Order: sequence, then structure tokens, then C-alpha cells
Amino acid sequence: MTLRILVTGGAGFIGSHYVRTLLGPEGPGDVALTVLDKLTYAGCPASLDEVRAHPGFAFVQGDVCDARLVDKLVGENDQVVHFAAESHVDRSIRGAAEFVRTNVLGTQTLLDAALRHRLGPFVHISTDEVYGSIDSGSWPEEHPLRPTSPYAASKASADLVALSYHRTHGLDVRVTRCSNNYGHHQFPEKLIPLFITRLLDGGTVPLYGDGRHVRDWLHIDDHVRAVELVRTGGRPGEVYNIGGGTELSNNELTGLLLAACGADWDRVVHVEDRKGHDRRYSVDCAKIRAELGYAPGKDFAEGLAETVEWYRTRRDWWEPLRSKAAL
Ligand code: NAD
Repeated sequence: MTLRILVTGGAGFIGSHYVRTLLGPEGPGDVALTVLDKLTYAGCPASLDEVRAHPGFAFVQGDVCDARLVDKLVGENDQVVHFAAESHVDRSIRGAAEFVRTNVLGTQTLLDAALRHRLGPFVHISTDEVYGSIDSGSWPEEHPLRPTSPYAASKASADLVALSYHRTHGLDVRVTRCSNNYGHHQFPEKLIPLFITRLLDGGTVPLYGDGRHVRDWLHIDDHVRAVELVRTGGRPGEVYNIGGGTELSNNELTGLLLAACGADWDRVVHVEDRKGHDRRYSVDCAKIRAELGYAPGKDFAEGLAETVEWYRTRRDWWEPLRSKAAL
């Protein structure tokens, strides 16, 4: 019997890659996906072009906060993979309302519908940012949540609400907390695609503060594989960290991007640091490795080179989006 999965935020960077992967040759086969996406500035219908004609694909434009629509769609599906969110930290600093609405209220709206229809698993996609900054070592899943930005706080709130539906109601909720994703089809306001597209155009790139903020980089192929491991083999009520295994300061990453685009450091403009900018994130991935056999497989240098090449050849995808970018 065909498994029906509701994928929220499926027109975004990671959600669209999830949909293309599941409906592609490497996918599980007998699966039908319904994408629910509001198509905010970050939603890009063109990212779904290659699966649009697939018989297992359906697209609904709508809001995860629309209780009636969500109830209908959840009732028509067997599982939920919830990517939809306001996802850009800088935007959350300028205004948090939409972050709280979509990320918290939207998640709770989906959870209520999942509870009414008793479906599961409900995979809630979260972020390493919920833990706050860590100077050394890595956070395990049980580390207390100390989010800094309004974005991270809204995601942490959503995580707690999601887990409460498991503890209170027994709903099969599984939470994933991943590090910084990179790859093709990422909206050109996030660091890697912003820098690549500006450098390809001969422009300058803005580097926050002293550039010594450290992030772990996770290729979208690895992330999507990990989400699938959690959906198919994870345990209800559990949280799984997902890392990429490549820790870089923004200075180091900038150097790699400049080299990949054939540019020099004179193209870098040092700008005032982001407010409340966390110094370092690092997730301990021992749990998903031991329970589900996950390990990142993508070599960072190779992944970055492929990403640069994709942006070099896919101006048709990113040029129309540039005017909507925050920076
Ligand atoms: P994205 O911004 O590229 O895509 C978000 C998608 O959600 C867009 O298609 C948008 O139209 C849709 N959306 C926004 N508000 C909506 C609403 N109210 N109703 C329905 N759809 C709505 O985000 P992304 O980078 O693909 O991130 C996906 C998920 O992964 C998010 O939950 C994010 O918090 C999480 N995450 C992302 C990263 C990363 O590096 N990109 C890292 C950690 C966690």
C-alpha cells in the first residue's frame, strides 16, 4: 500500500531536496508526498519542477497555521515530515512575530491535527541553534535548551511543544536537530549561497564581526538521509542530533569560498557583528550513529565545489530570488 506523507515547507531548501530525493531513483518507491507550503519569500516552486509530473506528488499552497486546511491534509496522510518554518536568524532579529506564529503556532496546529487523526511518525525538523552557544565540546540531545536568537527560541519552543504531545498524548513525535546545511537550491541570503552569488557577480561579501564564529557544515544529501533514518527507524519521543562533521570558522569558510570563486580577500567587507551572535555550535551525533547507523558521507571540499558549480550554472534559479533576499 502506498505510504502517504505530508511534507510541510517542501518548496524550501531542505524540504524540496527531501521531496526530490524520496520521489527520485534513490527513494523508497511506493510513497506519495503532499507538499504544504505557503510560498513565502523563501518558498520556490521551481525547486519542485523535476518532480511536478510524478504521480506521487501533490502541491498545496497554504499556511501551517490554517487549522482547517491542516486538519484536512493531515487526515489524508499517514505521516508528517515538518520542515516549514521562518528560518533566517537575521530576519528574526528585525521582527520575531512571524517566527513565533509559523514556527510555534504552526507546529502546534499540525500536532493537534496529527493527534485528532492519530497519525505518526510526526518528524519535527529542528536545529542545533536551540542549545545556544558552546565554546568547546558538543551538545548531547539532553543538554538544556538555551536559545539566543528569536529564531532559535521559536524553534526551541516548537521542539518542547512537539515533545509534550508525545509525553502527554503518546503521539509518535520524533525531533531532529541538525547543524548548518549547505548545497544547491539554498535561498541566496544564507551565508554560502549569498557569498557565492555575490562573488560570481563580481561584488563584495559581508563578514560579521571578527569572523571567528564556528559552525558545523552538513550537506543536504546527508541531512535528508538522516531524516529518513529517523522517520523509518527512530524511536517515538526521541531527539536526534544530526551533524556534518566539518567545523569551520566563518573566516575559514570565507577563504574557501573566495578560492572556489577565484576571488581575493579585498572582496570581503567586515561588517558589524550580528546582535547576540552565538560563537560556536556543535552537536554530538553519538546517538543517531549508534541507533540508526548515521554518519555524514559527503566530503566537504567536494560538496562545496559542486555547490559553487551549481550556482555558477543555475542563474535561472537564483537571479529571480535575489531581490527578495534580506541582505
Ligand atoms: P527555507 O527557509 O529554505 O524554507 C522554508 C519553507 O517553509 C519555505 O518554502 C516557506 O515558503 C515555507 N513556509 C514558511 N512559513 C510557512 C507557513 N506559515 N506555512 C507553510 N509553509 C511555510 O528553510 P530550510 O533551510 O529549508 O529549513 C527547513 C527546516 O530546517 C526549518 O524548520 C529550519 O528551521 C530547519 N533547519 C535549517 C537549517 C539550515 O541550515 N538551512 C539548519 C537547521 C535547521
